[in-house]
Amino acid sequence: MQTSQPWHTLEADAAIAQLQSSPEGLSAEESLRRQAEYGPNELKASTRISPWAILLEQFRNVLVIILLVATLLSIFMGHGVEAIVIAIIVLFAVFLGFIQEYRAERAIEALRSLAAPTATVLRDGEEVEIPARDLVPGDLIMLQAGDRIPADARLTEAINLQLEEAALTGESLPVEKHTSALADPKLGVGDRKNMVYSGTVATYGRGRAVVVATGMQTEFGQITGMLQGIESSRTPLQENLDRVGKSLAKVALVVVALVVGLGLMRGQPFLEMLIFGIALAVAVVPEALPAVVTISLAIGVQRMARRNALVRRLPTVETLGSTSVICSDKTGTLTKDEMTIRRIFVAGEVIEVTNTGYEPSGSFMRAGKIITPSGPLAELLRAGVLCSDAHLSQREGRWHMKGDPTEGALIVAAAKASIHKADLESLAPRIDEIPFTSETKRMTTLHETPEGRVAYAKGAPEILLESCASLLTPEGVRPLDAEARTTILAQAQQMASNALRVLGLARRRAANITEATQDLTFIGLVGMIDPPRPEASAAIANCVKAGIKTIMITGDHPITAQAVARELGLLTDGRVVTGAELEAMSDEELTNAIEAIQVYARVSPAHKLRVVTALQARGHIVAMTGDGVNDAPALKKADIGVAMGITGTDVSKEAAAMTLTDDNFASIVAAVEEGRGIFGNIKKYLMYLLSSNIGEIGLMTGASLLGMPLPLTAVQILYVNLATDGLPSLALAVDPPEDDLLERQPRDPRSGIFTRPVVILMLVGGIWSTLVNLGLFAWALNSGRELSEAMTMAFVSLVLIQFFKAYNYRSDRHSIFRRPFANRWLNLAIVWELVLLVGIIYIPFLHDAFGTFSLPLIDWLIVIGVSLTISPVIEVAKWMERRGWFGAM
Ligand code: ADP
Ligand code: MG
Repeated sequence: MQTSQPWHTLEADAAIAQLQSSPEGLSAEESLRRQAEYGPNELKASTRISPWAILLEQFRNVLVIILLVATLLSIFMGHGVEAIVIAIIVLFAVFLGFIQEYRAERAIEALRSLAAPTATVLRDGEEVEIPARDLVPGDLIMLQAGDRIPADARLTEAINLQLEEAALTGESLPVEKHTSALADPKLGVGDRKNMVYSGTVATYGRGRAVVVATGMQTEFGQITGMLQGIESSRTPLQENLDRVGKSLAKVALVVVALVVGLGLMRGQPFLEMLIFGIALAVAVVPEALPAVVTISLAIGVQRMARRNALVRRLPTVETLGSTSVICSDKTGTLTKDEMTIRRIFVAGEVIEVTNTGYEPSGSFMRAGKIITPSGPLAELLRAGVLCSDAHLSQREGRWHMKGDPTEGALIVAAAKASIHKADLESLAPRIDEIPFTSETKRMTTLHETPEGRVAYAKGAPEILLESCASLLTPEGVRPLDAEARTTILAQAQQMASNALRVLGLARRRAANITEATQDLTFIGLVGMIDPPRPEASAAIANCVKAGIKTIMITGDHPITAQAVARELGLLTDGRVVTGAELEAMSDEELTNAIEAIQVYARVSPAHKLRVVTALQARGHIVAMTGDGVNDAPALKKADIGVAMGITGTDVSKEAAAMTLTDDNFASIVAAVEEGRGIFGNIKKYLMYLLSSNIGEIGLMTGASLLGMPLPLTAVQILYVNLATDGLPSLALAVDPPEDDLLERQPRDPRSGIFTRPVVILMLVGGIWSTLVNLGLFAWALNSGRELSEAMTMAFVSLVLIQFFKAYNYRSDRHSIFRRPFANRWLNLAIVWELVLLVGIIYIPFLHDAFGTFSLPLIDWLIVIGVSLTISPVIEVAKWMERRGWFGAM
């Protein structure tokens, strides 16, 4: 929106009026109208790669160009039909490449929309969460620590709000914001302290602001104009395979030179040999490999998304499979984060609270009798409500809680005593606060009450008690002596050992917020349950089988943490270490002790970084969860940073490699399983493709060296490579994962993909294929068959061996008889290719182009018989490998 004056010079109300908005935000209708007027709040429309661009890209491939040249050469030599067939094969290769890239591109695009940022706005006075792209000028947005600012906005409320604006101003220290108008219209962006700008990050406090510019109109949009998208860097595996491809290309040159050279020496025509050389080069280079790898990683990403894990970068998929440690938050990830207050300790008495859930029905019991809260108990409940940001509301008969569940529990408990937040807040409005952080583990608010200003505080009991000097009793305020302290801490321990999360509450009269942090009067303790997620125990048990260590990291009390960890089966014979103990250890001591530690309690986000570093020093591949602003460094350092989709801050999501849409620990384990499956499938078609190439090269060079005629025509070689190998390898990329993936040890990432079984099976398959085909060819020639018949027999046996082998390579360790036909796509691919094969052999028109011969039944029986031998041979090699005959693991 245009204005004569810069927004920062206007008062907040004036800005809202200017934007024709209101303190309740826009109406739903008006926001729709403005969306039509201003367009989406996006930095430049995302550049969608069109199918045509992808198709054209295929023709820029060197291989395709070489093949087109071969086609032209064939026409030039008058081999019309052959030229057509080569052209069709080329088109087929282009088509496959197109399909592969198109799918990968769309998969990545789908991810982008899944990971789209959201914003909390006021619409018709209600707080709602909407996609950030739907924001319009005039919208009132709510901001809190950890949010990425979704648009440029004028602050209308700022409570200790600090922003990190490095993306815009280069200043890396947080800037304190306020709401007063600034006089100087020429202030630079960095000095407009009553404005927040798109692309910057709230690091502390909270606030509210009215949107003044969206999309490309924002300051950030004007300087960058670029979309910060999903990284699509190449994965270590892709790079590894690129190197393999390059080495194979060198081998190709030597082999081609050899075969072509020998051919020319025997007087073959030059052009024929040239086409032949090209075909052979195509055979050696595994051109489909990089594309198939990309596609299986991309498909893996989609499968993971279906299991609630959003991955932002392809390399993550690869790393996931070798995860050896998962460090998980407790609250919300291993537990349900549905807190209910169970027990209260106030005025020297233990009070039980009944019922669970957010519905405010239930009663308070003392020594088995129902009581009506009054005196210190009522004050404790009031303190809990006033010192909380969460909201409880009823919609369609159901109770909903918005905000931190720990605070929600306090509000629900108070509502059970008919103490309601709205009433209290109008009686004692909040005028200042110190927000909760994971470092301080406490929160303080200051209220204007009819009796003067009162501050309330809540936080971890042992920390809050340090700032308390007195105690609230039914008889009034008493000094807090050593004995009372001991009793309170003992009660807190008692609650914690029942897996309750414990909070202390306190208050004092205070003129301002700084005064409110000391000499407090302690009111009492609340203990809340947070039931473990039922699926978490099963997932932890799976991790044990899968050789993955699970470690709990929590800000909660060590005794609570220990109780929950035991219940989940996470804590067995290991240690529980607190943040304070961690600080007393040197990095070296930590690294030495780390294998034995299963739970870290009362830690701060900074400790997480040390834990990751120490684990990595022991060679672990670490997945680490986090949700807060300060978790970002640990999430970045971890091999796989895992953010929480529901409760996580924008900052943590941006730092993480993966986001859980359901905040659930079990989803991490599911993603690891998928990661292992994908890696397994890559191994399968790698073995398949490379062994097929070895078989083809072996046959051609073998025949040349032995002075035999060439066993395959150029067209046949091209066909086998571009048509026969393509579909089964794609089918292997989507092979159902082996069912014992989670019973194996994590893969050592340094061992790469060419593990011993992979190399052995690949070589055995390739060499046996060479021997069978060469032998068959030689035998057929000796038996007095015509050259074209012998060649066709070699061609068919080469293809059939490829078909049989595909089933062997479905596992590098299990026998072929384990669910042999479980891969529907592979079965379909093979049937379809058999139809093509029969067509090539019996349709007279194709004889010319392929150089084939209509085989009699007896030839078929012989060919099938010899090519079938590939399966038992590979199986025996597998068996020997399993028994360790090729060396110990
Ligand atoms: P975690 O998320 O790992 O359970 P937190 O950092 O959220 O740990 O909490 C650590 C401790 O801080 C809790 O044990 C509790 O005593 C206290 N705490 C948690 N939430 C709040 C809050 N909203 N206000 C005050 N204190 C809190
Ligand atoms: Mg928490």
